[in-house]
Amino acid sequence: MIELHSVGNIRPHRLFASLCAAMLILAAVLVLPHASQPAPRVPLLVPVFSSAQATLNAIIAYLVLLQFHMERNDPDALISIAFAYSSLLTLVLLVSLPGVLTSDDHFARLAPALGWLWVAKLAGHALLILLAMLLWRKWPARTAARGEIHCRVALVAFVPVLLVGCACALVNGLASNLPLLQDGQGSYASLARGWPGLFILACWACALLSVLLVTRLRRSFDCWLAFSCLAYLLYLTVNFSSALRFTAGWYLSRLFELTASATLLGALLFEVLRMQRQLKTLYQSAYQISIRDGLTGLYSRRYFDTALAHEQQLMAHTRRPLSLLMIDIDFFKRYNDTYGHPAGDDCLRQVAACLQDSARSSDIVARYGGEEFAVILPDTDANEARQAAERLRNAIMARGIPAASPAGRERLVVTVSIGLGCRRSDPQAAGETTLIDEADHALYDAKRQGRNRVACRIL
Ligand code: GH3
Ligand code: MG
Ligand code: MG
Repeated sequence: MIELHSVGNIRPHRLFASLCAAMLILAAVLVLPHASQPAPRVPLLVPVFSSAQATLNAIIAYLVLLQFHMERNDPDALISIAFAYSSLLTLVLLVSLPGVLTSDDHFARLAPALGWLWVAKLAGHALLILLAMLLWRKWPARTAARGEIHCRVALVAFVPVLLVGCACALVNGLASNLPLLQDGQGSYASLARGWPGLFILACWACALLSVLLVTRLRRSFDCWLAFSCLAYLLYLTVNFSSALRFTAGWYLSRLFELTASATLLGALLFEVLRMQRQLKTLYQSAYQISIRDGLTGLYSRRYFDTALAHEQQLMAHTRRPLSLLMIDIDFFKRYNDTYGHPAGDDCLRQVAACLQDSARSSDIVARYGGEEFAVILPDTDANEARQAAERLRNAIMARGIPAASPAGRERLVVTVSIGLGCRRSDPQAAGETTLIDEADHALYDAKRQGRNRVACRIL
C-alpha cells in the first residue's frame, strides 16, 4: 500500500545534499584567499541577480504554502512566510537600485536605509526559519476544517506583506539614528566586520543548526532546507570577507545566494513530480480495486454494467453480433450448507479462475452477484457463443471440485448451468436490458431442464 505523504527513499537526498554541501564548502575555501581581488565591473548583474533571487524565493514560498495547505504542517507556514518575506524585501531593494526606479541622487539619500533593509532581509529570513524550527514540536498535528485552512493560507500569504511593511517603516524611521553601513568608497566593512554582520551570520548558523537538529532531515525538503541555510551562511562569509562590490568574493557570494534558492526550488519541484507519480500509481490501483470483485478478482457488477452498455453501443455501429452468458453454480446452497461458507467462497474463487482461464482475452468475465457470473462475448454469434459456453461448462466439470452429493448418490463434482443470449441488431430498439433478460430466461430454462447444461434464446 502506498502512502500519499510517504517520505520516499530519503537516503539519496541526504547523500546528494551532503555532496553538494561539500562542494559548496570547498568552493568557498578555495575562493576565500582571493575574495578581495577586483573583478570586471558588470553593474547590470546586480538587478539581474536580485530579480532572479526574488523570483526563485517567491516560487519557493508559493510551493511551500501549497505544501502547508496539503499536509497541514504548521511550521511549513512559517517557512513559506520566511521566503516570501525575503522575496518581497529583495524586490524593495531592487526597485531602490539607481536606474531602476530611482536616480543616482535619490539612491545616495536612500543608501543608509537600504543597507539596514538588507540586514533586515537576511536576519528576518533566518529568524523566521529558526522560529519555525523552535515551534516545530509545540504545534500539535491537527486537522483543520476546509474553511479554516483557507483562512490560514490567506493569513500566511498576507503576513510577509505586513512584515515587509513593518521592516521598511522601522528602518525609515530609524535611518537617521542608525550608523552608516557603507563608506564613501562603497566598502561595507563596518557592516561585514561589525555587529550587524556577526548578527546575520549568527542567525543563519542558528537556522542551519535548528533545521539539522529539529527535522533530523526526515523529508527531502528538510535536507535541501538545511543545504539552503548552509549556502546562505557561505554566501555571507565570502561576501563579508571581501566587503567590496565587484570583487571575486562578491561575485561568487552572489552565486552562493542563488544556489541556496535554486536547489531548494529544484527539490520542491522534484517532490511535486514524485507526488504526481505516486498519485498516478494510487489512482491506477484504486481504479483496479473499483472495477474488480473482492472475492474472485473478476470484473465487478458495476464494471459489467458499464462494459455491456458500451458493447451494445458498439454493436449498434458495427452491426456485429454480441452474446452474453449468464452462469449459475448448481446446488450451491447445498454446497455451503455441507462444507461451510469459507469453503463456499473457495469454490467461488475456483470457478471464477476456471472461467477466466477458459475465456478468450477479448471476453469480459464478471461476477454478476452471489454464485452467478456473466461473460460478455463481443463479436460472437449464437453458434460460437454456444461453443464457448460448452467449453466453459466442461472446463468447470473437468476441474473436479467435489460437490455436496446427496446421501447414497455417487460422488459428484461442481457444475454450472448457462443461459445464452445473443443480439444482432440495434439494442436501443428493444431496450437496454433485453440481452440480460434473454440470457437470464435461458438460464432458468437450463435449470428447469435439469441443470449442468447450456440453454439458448436467440432474438
Ligand atoms: P440452483 O441450482 O437452483 O442455482 O440452486 P442454488 O442452491 O445454487 O441456488 P440458491 O439461489 O438457492 O443459492 C445460492 C446460494 O449462494 C445461497 C447463498 O448462500 C450462496 N452465496 C451467495 N453469495 C455467496 C458468497 O459470496 N459466498 C458463499 N460462500 N456463498 C454465497
Ligand atoms: Mg443463483
Ligand atoms: Mg445456483
